[in-house]
Amino acid sequence: MSRPQQITVLGATGSIGLSTLDVIARHPERYQVFALSGFTRLSELLALCIRHVPQFAVVPEVAAARGLQDDLRAAGLPTRVLVGEEGLCQVASAPEVDAVMAAIVGAAGLRPTLAAVEAGKKILLANKEALVMSGALFMQAVHKSGSVLLPIDSEHNAIFQCMPQDFARGLSAVGVRRILLTASGGPFRQTPMSELAHVSPDQACAHPNWSMGRKISVDSASMMNKGLELIEACWLFDAKPAQVEVVIHPQSVIHSLVDYVDGSVLAQLGNPDMRTPIANALAWPERIDSGVAPLDLFAVARLDFEAPDEERFPCLRLARQAAEAGNSAPAMLNAANEVAVAAFLDARVGYLEIASIIEDVLNLEPVVALEDLDAVFTADAKARILAEQWLSRHGR
Ligand code: NDP
Ligand code: MG
Repeated sequence: MSRPQQITVLGATGSIGLSTLDVIARHPERYQVFALSGFTRLSELLALCIRHVPQFAVVPEVAAARGLQDDLRAAGLPTRVLVGEEGLCQVASAPEVDAVMAAIVGAAGLRPTLAAVEAGKKILLANKEALVMSGALFMQAVHKSGSVLLPIDSEHNAIFQCMPQDFARGLSAVGVRRILLTASGGPFRQTPMSELAHVSPDQACAHPNWSMGRKISVDSASMMNKGLELIEACWLFDAKPAQVEVVIHPQSVIHSLVDYVDGSVLAQLGNPDMRTPIANALAWPERIDSGVAPLDLFAVARLDFEAPDEERFPCLRLARQAAEAGNSAPAMLNAANEVAVAAFLDARVGYLEIASIIEDVLNLEPVVALEDLDAVFTADAKARILAEQWLSRHGR
């Protein structure tokens, strides 16, 4: 039997990170944890290091690193602590590493994920924001290094499973007409419009089907998550925005579908548990147990579908417009959204203002071409400044 694969988990203390470690722990003969990273939940990171004994742990700053290193030494562990973005890039690209789970939330994940891509690693991509911000450059780097890019987002993993193996030849070449991207509609699908101005962060984070980190939970409530996923699908599957249709499917049992020219529509189904796409990507092209219970179709009983309402979900419209504009528009959309969602989670703005902030930012700044990574971060920074200016203009 060959040696276990060495896995780096970026964002180990988060929802996806923990699900990944759950799957890995079920298969010690196949996988070993090479490195783990955390950001604020450092006592959880220590517990994960004790459980998985990685060679490296990464934390954001020096004082935290010293504290964690002392605790690890006291626990008799050999784990070495690295610091900051440089440490993240190091564990993402180290020669011993076979695969990198990119599960840091937001723009902060871009550089470490790209470091893994450039080093030719197998990439398990959960951090959709990285691809949304820098799609063209990211995909160029994937093609250049020969890195294998496997989607973790449940919809994109479903689409990946329903596509023919040679889909990189182009959707029309392989007979695909449309991608049908399913969305649960989140907690506010049926909330009276008059109540939306007053919904709280906790209400927004109470997703009906999925348990996730707080930022993506708010994105799911506003359907910005689906907008980001539309852009993500365009890059992963070389699709035009018009080839991706969003379908609300409240049960979250069908994770997405692919519509072929002969009228066949292939879907991937399963319980809403991220360990399924994680196990799929970890073992691809093989299959392994994920710990997810078998789907009970009799308990599901029915599958419903409806069209999204762009008046209720303006973020979806804004994301589609950004997808069509391309260039710097998706990076600006993403950055403005990150600022707006953080302000909403801090109770500085109301739920409906999330879309207002993003729309204002996109209207204020012209779309420019993104030649390199510096241009991506410049667009990101501009959008953050404009969003912060919106907040101060409105006294928040
Ligand atoms: P969480 O908020 O649960 O976890 C985020 C992780 O990133 C944590 O480990 C956190 O550390 C770390 N982190 C946060 N900010 C920074 C930073 N500035 N620098 C370095 N590390 C940081 O999020 P999720 O696990 O829910 O989501 C992770 C990614 O996966 C997101 O991009 C999301 O869109 C995507 N995704 C998630 C799904 C889900 O079901 N959860 C489904 C599909 C995609 P700490 O906790 O220690 O602060
Ligand atoms: Mg998703």
